[in-house]
Amino acid sequence: MLAQLTSLLKSKRLPHGIIWANPETEVLASFVKILMCQGRGDQLHACGHCKACYLIQSEAGHPDVHWLKPEGKLNLIKIDTVRDIIEFLSKSAQQGGYKVVVFEGAEGLNMAAQNALLKSLEEPSSNSLLVLQTAYPHLLLPTIKSRCQLLTDQDPKKAETHSSVNEFIDALSFDFKPLNVAAKFKDASLEILFNGWYEFLYEVLRVQQGLALEGQWHDSRVSIENAAKKNPEQLYAFVDELVKLKALVHKKIALNQQALLERALIKWHGVN
Ligand SMILES: [Zn+2]
Repeated sequence: MLAQLTSLLKSKRLPHGIIWANPETEVLASFVKILMCQGRGDQLHACGHCKACYLIQSEAGHPDVHWLKPEGKLNLIKIDTVRDIIEFLSKSAQQGGYKVVVFEGAEGLNMAAQNALLKSLEEPSSNSLLVLQTAYPHLLLPTIKSRCQLLTDQDPKKAETHSSVNEFIDALSFDFKPLNVAAKFKDASLEILFNGWYEFLYEVLRVQQGLALEGQWHDSRVSIENAAKKNPEQLYAFVDELVKLKALVHKKIALNQQALLERALIKWHGVN
């Protein structure tokens, strides 16, 4: 991975946007050091003693590198943070080299934040690099994905959708009664259900925008087409709500799982 990145850099083909679809960030951190280094490093190492190398190792960090992690209990990246980043990317680098932004846990960027970042990807300033690190690249907006190079050392094929997810999706669409569904799926993994639900909603939004159904959703075609008749604004609001609930589940904050599932299902019932 590191050699792949440095060779892109050497041949001046480094993209402005990267989706780093690995849970590990060590290699990424090494690459950022090499990218910023102004001394004579090699393919796999920064020199370690130029000004940039000192800055990057200093407590305050390098002024042209912003490495952001999700904040708060909800694991979300705040829109204000994203606005600051967009401004940072539009200015020239203080040290005259690259400007780098890494969003760790980029699945914590909500739709508004991702949309705000789009402009920085559409009209990138020179020598800028935006990295979205996430173990869930499929959860990013398609418009973001299409403007970034996906880097992963894992099998890019999507993990097979859990059959309980398909069943759940169908239960959301036909003769839907929130409390019945909550009871039926009370023993299922909320993480799997919510992730599947989230992906389903993305597909619904795509179809609503007139895009063709993606192959893996063939079995849920009717459910998706039904949901696509709902009000887009309400759908987007529900997606944001689901992102928050997903984050709660992901962080394993002590919660009554059943109550959480009921809450989500009742909200979904209100989406018209
Ligand atoms: Zn150096």
